[in-house]
Amino acid sequence: MSFKEQIQRRRTFGIISHPDAGKTTLTEKLLLFGGAIQEAGAVKNNKIKKTATSDFMEIERQRGISVATSVLAFIYKDKKINILDTPGHKDFAEDTFRTLTAVDSVIVVVDVAKGVEEQTEKLVQVCRMRNIPMIVFINKLDREGKDAFDLLDDLEQKLGLSVTPLSFPIGMGYDFKGIYNIYEKNINLFSGDSKKNIEETIAFDSLESTELESIIGNKAAEELRDNLDLVNGVYPPFDKESYLKGQQQPVFFGSALNNFGVRELLDCFIEIAPSPRAKKAEERLVEANEKEMSGFVFKIHANMDPKHRDRLAFIKIVSGTFERNKPYLHVRNGKKMKFSSPNAFFAEKKEIVDISYPGDIVGLHDTGNFKIGDTLTEGEALHYKGIPSFSPEHFRYINNADPMKSKQLYKGIDQLMDEGVAQLFTLELNGRRVIGTVGALQFEVIQYRLEHEYGAKCTYENFPVYKACWVQAEDPKNDEYKEFKRVKQKFLAKDKRGQLVFLADSQFSLQMTQQKYPSVKLHFVSEFD
Ligand code: GDP
Repeated sequence: MSFKEQIQRRRTFGIISHPDAGKTTLTEKLLLFGGAIQEAGAVKNNKIKKTATSDFMEIERQRGISVATSVLAFIYKDKKINILDTPGHKDFAEDTFRTLTAVDSVIVVVDVAKGVEEQTEKLVQVCRMRNIPMIVFINKLDREGKDAFDLLDDLEQKLGLSVTPLSFPIGMGYDFKGIYNIYEKNINLFSGDSKKNIEETIAFDSLESTELESIIGNKAAEELRDNLDLVNGVYPPFDKESYLKGQQQPVFFGSALNNFGVRELLDCFIEIAPSPRAKKAEERLVEANEKEMSGFVFKIHANMDPKHRDRLAFIKIVSGTFERNKPYLHVRNGKKMKFSSPNAFFAEKKEIVDISYPGDIVGLHDTGNFKIGDTLTEGEALHYKGIPSFSPEHFRYINNADPMKSKQLYKGIDQLMDEGVAQLFTLELNGRRVIGTVGALQFEVIQYRLEHEYGAKCTYENFPVYKACWVQAEDPKNDEYKEFKRVKQKFLAKDKRGQLVFLADSQFSLQMTQQKYPSVKLHFVSEFD
């Protein structure tokens, strides 16, 4: 197969949802279609169980299996499909944001009864900002839920999407009869007892035929025809170009648990979803079909065994082929590196591969050379954009609780921050260290891991911060900026890249600061133009 064909057959995507909407179940059904797993229940659930006795032990458990589920790859109808795992738990939202920098498209799962939920809103917003093509799957149609049109309205109003249904449900819950596939123009009937089996639905072709009545009943037939008239009247026809630009989002209905509507979703997905796209580096736009390899680190995974502190860095290949034992330039530190055992992922296994293509994810063993956002190339100094840090929501001072172990502590903190567990800020005034996290759980994780992996102990102290804002001066030499730096010194810190950050202690003080120093721009993400 030619290089170009290899690129065109790849689909790298993420599934996003609010916890419990059915992401794990859908992932599992997709893998079944690819023959990558043989039975239901094979995909380990890596979500944080609410019933867990101890949250951080639960995180350890989750970390153990999340290496295996970080990338789930399979082949379906000759397409190489890479699903990138995105944790649903809100405390790990930043992990998910970063993973979204490595996907070429997204499937959004929505629970038919709950509609659009909080996490869905946040994640979709990130996808919209980046114009990532999205397909929506409305799940759990075997249960009573909201009216289909209300759900479509919800998607438009709460998520700001421009949807067009590509399938439409016939009834719902107890009365769920099946799905009309607008894209393929046929009907699949739902039979309640075909649970968990693939291909136990029958196709039905003509909508005008009176046979429709005899199969789904008069009332349902009439309702379906009315609904489809309404769909035609209200929603624009599906337009692939608009979908690819992130301007239109097709919607499917189904039940992941019953494997109903999943094949339709997958068949449409492989046809319309983009193969690896060009990616913007600071220097230029890099096309997937360029000969020279380039890729970036979007995730770092620490070894579970505290005695082996090596880590796995996940690289998304953007262009060219990644080859085993070939020297590549680590752009940030200027060193050439060779990798003798790059891992590729297949279903839930990882194996050493000789060659990987754009769209693929390669896992590289790392002893501390990589940070999230690092770029590898064949020599060109490229820096991939779009892996920003987001303003954390919880802040605490971190103190060393064992003076004999300060070296271990700082090394541990440094490495955990490289992994993206949390963000470290160093106060300008006194050099004290402050940890900022998206969720409160991370503080426990850090304390636990510092002790178990680095033999260091830490304590925390409250530090009331409302938001961390990255500072951009219109002109670093002007008096306003100088005054800002002088007056606000107590609230200024450097992040791990040395960028200046303003730690606002309240919304009010943030607003006052913005008003008083209009030429000093304050950003909630670390990347800005
Ligand atoms: P995740 O948190 O988004 O990964 O959700 P899961 O896939 O773990 O699903 C959450 C719960 O919803 C589980 O108990 C699933 O069995 C159930 N579930 C998933 N899909 C369906 C469906 O189509 N119908 C019904 N009734 N339940 C479902």
